[in-house]
Amino acid sequence: MRPKILDKLFKPIETTKGIGPRLKVKLKYLIGENIVDYLWHLPNNIIDRSYRPTIISAENNRIVTMDLTVTKHNPSRRRGLPYKITCIDETGELDLIWFNARRQYLEDILPVGSNATISGKIETYKKRKQIIHPQHVIKSQKLNDFQDIEPVYRLTQGLSNKVIRNYIKKVLDTVPDFPEWHDQELINRMKWPEFSKSIKDCHNPQNLDDLDHQNISKQRLVYDELLANQLSLALISKNFEAPKGIEIIDKNQLVRKLLNNLSFELTNSQKISIEEISNDLSKSDRMIRLLQGDVGSGKTIVALAGLFHTAGSLKQGAMMAPTELLARQHYEGIRDLCLKSNVSVNILTGKTKQKDREIILKDLKEGKIDIIIGTHALFQEKVLFNDLGLVVIDEQHRFGVHQRLSLTSKSKDYPPDILIMSATPIPRTLELTAFGSMQVSRLLDKPKGRKPIKTIAKPINKISEVIDSIERLINVGEKIYWVCPLIEESEKIDLAAAEDRFHQLNKIYKDKVSLVHGKMKIEDREKVMNDFKYGSKMILVATTVIEVGIDVPDATFMVIEHSERFGLSQLHQLRGRVGRSDKLSSCLLLYKSPLGENAKKRLETLRNTDDGFIIAEEDLILRGAGEILGVKQSGLPYFKIANLNIDRELLELAKNDANFIIDSNILGKTERGKNLEILLHLFNKEEALKYLEAG
Ligand code: ADP
Ligand code: MG
Repeated sequence: MRPKILDKLFKPIETTKGIGPRLKVKLKYLIGENIVDYLWHLPNNIIDRSYRPTIISAENNRIVTMDLTVTKHNPSRRRGLPYKITCIDETGELDLIWFNARRQYLEDILPVGSNATISGKIETYKKRKQIIHPQHVIKSQKLNDFQDIEPVYRLTQGLSNKVIRNYIKKVLDTVPDFPEWHDQELINRMKWPEFSKSIKDCHNPQNLDDLDHQNISKQRLVYDELLANQLSLALISKNFEAPKGIEIIDKNQLVRKLLNNLSFELTNSQKISIEEISNDLSKSDRMIRLLQGDVGSGKTIVALAGLFHTAGSLKQGAMMAPTELLARQHYEGIRDLCLKSNVSVNILTGKTKQKDREIILKDLKEGKIDIIIGTHALFQEKVLFNDLGLVVIDEQHRFGVHQRLSLTSKSKDYPPDILIMSATPIPRTLELTAFGSMQVSRLLDKPKGRKPIKTIAKPINKISEVIDSIERLINVGEKIYWVCPLIEESEKIDLAAAEDRFHQLNKIYKDKVSLVHGKMKIEDREKVMNDFKYGSKMILVATTVIEVGIDVPDATFMVIEHSERFGLSQLHQLRGRVGRSDKLSSCLLLYKSPLGENAKKRLETLRNTDDGFIIAEEDLILRGAGEILGVKQSGLPYFKIANLNIDRELLELAKNDANFIIDSNILGKTERGKNLEILLHLFNKEEALKYLEAG
């Protein structure tokens, strides 16, 4: 139950006086539906209204605040013309200007002869001083509400800063004096103010320094949030009961057979990962494991070992790929290995012909197929298994883990074990916050014999040399990826750029060039990809769609135009498309100079390393956690105030603090323990408290 002290904050906004239906909709859209949500909506700038000159002394283009007397109204003569109100002070005259104003309204608030305090930007027009659309018109009896320093909030269309500010002011008035939930010693050491003062400080910055993330009031809130996060995770993982699954034992020793048939030697981490997966499968607990390995690290074979293990116990396995092409690639890659060990494998996608489909569905149901490869469609349709033991999900770097876990219903009376493959290294910092309960296997070393990809950066004005130089590659049968960037704001223009490049290259390298982009129908796209992989096309001009893991061993050269516009991880993923054979590969980063600080760092990092981990950590530093995994969509925690990028030390501290709290069993018991419950509720982490009662 929510502590009473929070009642006022956890009410819908429309319970506040003055929030009508229309305003409610806008506010809800921008910020949230409960009063408490508005606490976390912090200002990101200030407007200084403390400049109070006389009319004659006022400098143009500054924000002024002035006490004026109204002398005359000049209503607009026609629509579209301004409404002008003339005012004076003891030094001169000035016009207040409104476009599209309601006459009645202006006559009410500023009748001739009245006094008011006006704030806005002053300028000169045809030798007269004027203020267009004053932001504040304050009558003398309301002067107490006026603040010289006005916080500025992120806005949405149709909501003025004033509206948001006024609402947040009301919200701040309802913040109670909470008892302290942090250790007093820590509070003293950090010199943090108490919660209610901190939140009010953050909404009332007095100067630009106060907006800084390192401001002590803000740091206090950051720690509040991090501790709530870590505490809830600690509670959950302490009481985490491994879900029930079933023992899958490789009675027929199929994994051993598989490994004997490989034409290459496994890397150390492949061996370890296969062990880990086999162990997990053999246990009666359900496996939920992430297999993380950089592009080209050899995840498929590890997953295949898991599937063989499952087949060895006469259960079925399924492997899902994000696209038809990748499913086919997997299927073709493993078919021979399956044949050799007498494991039956098939593929089912949206393109499987009706006749074949019926046979496959029947075989799956009767258990005649050991391993089925497919796209997501595999699981959306009415596919029934005889006995599904393991599901492998090749997520590439997409992270819909939570939806994917819903596959459970496909099996008979126990949920299948799950193995998720991802090329996105989860930076340890993030792991700390989210993956408390998921097991992780990592492929840290690359297969032997891989040649490093040579990475070069050149300014974009060298492009014609580059175009000439690829002829040599084409002549020896090597293929080229040519990546054109996609910027969100103007997809049309971007596409046009890619099309132009395609036509230009196709003129030179007749009929050897194809174009692929995200606006194409999936079937068309896959046909183009296929022609590049197996057919006569030697150059693939692409927008970033090729990011999603295609394997074309003959491709040895990648050009990335405007590489300065890409994120670091994205560039790394792209580059991983070459260097997939024993031939030397290179990646050319074309950039437009001058390069910004961050872009320069990104390109440098990329030239210096091909270690996905280093790249991911660097990316985290350069961009912040939110963007990397698309955190909001992924179900990973999303922080309202904390920034993992900056607050790593506080995160560590919060983690230790949380462990201490759990180990010493004070939650809900001692005074601090009870106060911590308030904290969990305040940050909507009360779900975790049910584990407290259970344990
Ligand atoms: P990814 O981890 O990107 O999915 P893949 O599983 O597609 O990588 O493997 C890339 C290529 O490397 C495949 O052609 C695969 O057969 C090969 N491969 C995998 N493991 C090894 C190894 N230990 N030694 C040599 N080649 C390997
Ligand atoms: Mg792969």
